[in-house]
Amino acid sequence: MRGLRQKEELIQLVSAWRGNAERIAIVPTMGSLHEGHLSLVRLAQRNADRVVVTSFVNPTQFGEGEDFSVYPRSLEQDTIVLQEVGADVLFAPEVATVYPFGINDATRVSVPVLTEEFCGASRPGHFDGVVSVVMRLFAVVQPHVAVFGQKDYQQLLVIRRLVDDLGLPISILAGPIVREADGLAMSSRNQNLSNDDRQTAAKLYQQLQHAGQEIQAGNRHYGVMERRAKSSLSDSGMDPEYFSIRQFTDLRMPGPQCRKWVILAAASLGKVRLIDNFTIPSQ
Ligand code: AMP
Repeated sequence: MRGLRQKEELIQLVSAWRGNAERIAIVPTMGSLHEGHLSLVRLAQRNADRVVVTSFVNPTQFGEGEDFSVYPRSLEQDTIVLQEVGADVLFAPEVATVYPFGINDATRVSVPVLTEEFCGASRPGHFDGVVSVVMRLFAVVQPHVAVFGQKDYQQLLVIRRLVDDLGLPISILAGPIVREADGLAMSSRNQNLSNDDRQTAAKLYQQLQHAGQEIQAGNRHYGVMERRAKSSLSDSGMDPEYFSIRQFTDLRMPGPQCRKWVILAAASLGKVRLIDNFTIPSQ
């Protein structure tokens, strides 16, 4: 596996691959890789000849007072695990490589509507940062396939819309959420949980599962279920941000014809913000 920090080298490499008619996949990450990321790399390998994993803690998707400075970073360990799994390239650029004109003067891309609620509402500018960096990474890697996790479900829909709306010739693939034994969705941020908070964190998934079972059983009192879940999360020491039952396809409020739902949730434990979601029926 090649570890690259400069985009020129990567551009040369991908153009050689393209010259050989090889299919290229990108797996964008912020590093500190865990089994969730590696499952996406394996999905990419099944759908392409070459896999480029990017590792970049993107400053433009963090708001003021968020955890950019304490976001875990572990490039050496990431290199080892990606070598084991057989990725072709780990691209870990510097900020100045990704934003040659500086962050303040950077060109931005923005997806409306889908970004208004949930993480978009609580983290203003977050999705502009995500979409803008993804466009920059697409421009360097020129992938045929891009792989994202269902873990960040709103982000997945936003990227799909970006690609559909701009007509980018890239297939978006989604990998299922990989969880710890107690159900907590794997996340690089879990490392920043205290021991006590780590125990509590599994409650988020338990509430998602519980609401999911009720919907499955025919309960359509969405508001009641949402309020109850939030108050249970508060009782267990979490600070719930949103817990919302929506249509799977477009994140709108479920209409009477809805047959597929997604429950989106975000909650904080101390300084760590967790997000998770649950699909009904399960995929
Ligand atoms: P991140 O490094 O957290 O920005 O995540 C990079 C990619 O990995 C995103 O597409 C995430 O949705 C995905 N991802 C993160 N955690 C998980 C997980 N537990 N299971 C599956 N995919 C994940």
